[in-house]
Amino acid sequence: MSSDAQNAQETIKFSDLGLSPKVLSAVTDAGYVEPTPIQAGAIPHALAGKDVLGIAQTGTGKTAAFVLPMITRLEKGRARARMPRTLILEPTRELAAQVEENFVKYGKNHRLNIALLIGGVSFDEQERKLERGADVLIATPGRMLDHFERGKLLLTGVEILVIDEADRMLDMGFIPDIERICKLIPFTRQTLFFSATMPPEITKLTQQFLQAPVRVEVARAATTGANITQRLVKSGSKAWDKRAVLRDLITAEDETLKNAIIFCNRKVDVSELFRSLTRHEFDAGALHGDMDQRARMAMLENFRNGKLKLLVASDVAARGLDIPDVSHIFNFDVPIHAEDYVHRIGRTGRAGRSGKAFTIVTRADKKYVDAIEKLTSQTIEWLDGDLSALPPPSEDDEAPRRGRGRSGKETAKTKRAPRGKTSEPASTEATDAPETAEKTAPKKTKSDHREAIKADNSNRRGKQQDGPQEPKRERRKRDDNLDDGTIGFGEDVPAFMKVSAKV
Ligand code: AMP
Repeated sequence: MSSDAQNAQETIKFSDLGLSPKVLSAVTDAGYVEPTPIQAGAIPHALAGKDVLGIAQTGTGKTAAFVLPMITRLEKGRARARMPRTLILEPTRELAAQVEENFVKYGKNHRLNIALLIGGVSFDEQERKLERGADVLIATPGRMLDHFERGKLLLTGVEILVIDEADRMLDMGFIPDIERICKLIPFTRQTLFFSATMPPEITKLTQQFLQAPVRVEVARAATTGANITQRLVKSGSKAWDKRAVLRDLITAEDETLKNAIIFCNRKVDVSELFRSLTRHEFDAGALHGDMDQRARMAMLENFRNGKLKLLVASDVAARGLDIPDVSHIFNFDVPIHAEDYVHRIGRTGRAGRSGKAFTIVTRADKKYVDAIEKLTSQTIEWLDGDLSALPPPSEDDEAPRRGRGRSGKETAKTKRAPRGKTSEPASTEATDAPETAEKTAPKKTKSDHREAIKADNSNRRGKQQDGPQEPKRERRKRDDNLDDGTIGFGEDVPAFMKVSAKV
């Protein structure tokens, strides 16, 4: 946090920031007592019409840092048809919907016309809202440009432009769209720009489109998250090993586990893990980019109001979700970008609550863990011994692979045979063979993990019993396709190998 923001935070009240009485009353109704550092730092400048560069991530109160001054400024003037007065760009539909909720909450004493332009929702309804004249337009870049190209939107009346989660926009390839949109809006506008990190591409963007911005920076979650207990949990490298480890963790944490987000690196794994958890009778839902908007919102709502305990999600889908009291984070995959770790664990331990973050680590993930520890300048404790306590890779990797192969494929073919209702999960493609193999093989991790979690819970700072240490094995290359059970070339045998040999 900048010293400005820190000092301001110690003394400033909401009523000192210059917000209008109507906005202040809504803030009081929301139950907020003091502004957060990003609010104290950004709001007075935003109200003064200055450009703001806010370096902050979700969980810091940054949404209100732009919504509150915007509503105050919108009190003067009114919207004209197809000419929104303000524009907020968000990288995902969920974030856009969340910002809309903030406008509804803080704008309860105003009559604001809010239009939300996101994918997965019909154009017609959105066009009607634009036609009525929007005070606030909240959009994802692609959908906004679609409307613009259809001639349903004029950007020449935009007085305030907000670009939120800019670094995520970069990750998602939206920067060219952002550049284009910035050029379509009058130069005289005010720009409020937020990003959790400042990679060079984002710095360049701010230099290009912000005018003498006031920079307000707040500390990263990972450096402030002392209330988050973080643990690394070793696992064999196969997806079914990891699923078993995850199930054990969830079961062992049951008493304190109110709700959890389980992060996977890839959408395909989100679906697969979700199916596996459901088969194992866990109360789980999934959130990924391929789901339609209605399903995503319904899933999120169920999770928010406690109807759903576990949410399996990808980074993109979960980015910036405002779910104030998530008790646990499970990283089913170690994030490849260390910064995603910071964002993920930032979903728990919010608003001073305590939280727990478990990260399942295989041998191939070691380098990603190193990068996370370097970024966060901390060493994360292992729950029950580090990777050197795993069985040798030959047992870990080769045996199950051998057990699959051709016969594994046959097993997959029989997957649809009806199963009786037992406590055993019904299996489906891809997960069937491995989970069967896992059941017949001696389970090394299960009770070990439960015991370890118990020990860890009762004595967090106690020394871990790692068991006999084996020498560290060579790291295996990370390969997302390792879990498909294929041996050698699988069915894709190169033609040269099929040519009959001349003896
Ligand atoms: P955000 O960083 O905008 O996603 O906000 C994170 C959470 O903090 C949301 O649940 C907000 O409702 C909440 N919040 C925002 N401002 C304050 C405040 N001044 N005091 C307490 N909670 C706040």
